Amino acid sequence: MSFELPPLPYELDALAPHISKETLEFHYGKHHQTYVTNLNNLVEGTDDASKSLEEIILSSDGGLFNNAAQVWNHTFYWNSLSPSGGGAPTGEIADKIGSAFGSYEDFVTEFSQAAITQFGSGWAWLIEDGSGLSILKTANADLPMKHSAKAILTIDVWEHAYYVDYRNARPKYVESVIENLINWDFANSNLA
Ligand code: MN
Repeated sequence: MSFELPPLPYELDALAPHISKETLEFHYGKHHQTYVTNLNNLVEGTDDASKSLEEIILSSDGGLFNNAAQVWNHTFYWNSLSPSGGGAPTGEIADKIGSAFGSYEDFVTEFSQAAITQFGSGWAWLIEDGSGLSILKTANADLPMKHSAKAILTIDVWEHAYYVDYRNARPKYVESVIENLINWDFANSNLA
C-alpha cells in the first residue's frame, strides 16, 4: 500500500488573503505531493513499504527521513490552520498556555520569535512533554516526535510557505498566521 496526499481540510482559496490560493496550489499541490511521491519511490520494494508513516520517521534518517517527516509535517501544518482561526485560544489550551507562558501575549512573543529566528528552512512548534507546553524550533524536516515530544501546533517557515505572498518578510507571514489562522480546535484535540 502506498502513501497518499491527504485531502486539504479546506478549499485552496480558504486562507486568503493571509495565505493565497497560489501559495496553496504550489505548497500543497506541488511540494507536499512531491514529498509523498518521493517517499513512495524510496520505500517501494523495501521492508519500509509495510510500515506506518510514524514508524518510518522514527526509524530512518537521511533522504527517507526527510521525505517521510515532510509528509507528516505538512499534513500537521494544514490542520494547524483554519479559515476561522486565529486570535486568543479557547478551551483547555487557553489554560495550559497561561500556565506555561504567563499569558497569550507572552506565548505569541515566544512562538513568533522561534518562527522568525529559525535560521534557514524549518518549523516552529508548540509542543507538550512531561513538563507541559513549550516552544521548539527545528531545522529542515526535523520534528517533535524525534525529540520525544508531542506536537500541538506548527508554522512552516520554509521560504516556499511565504515567498509568493510576503516575499522575504517572514515576520509579516508569521504575524498574519498567528493573528488570523491558528486552529485552536486542532490544538485542543492534540492535548494529552
Ligand atoms: Mn512547506
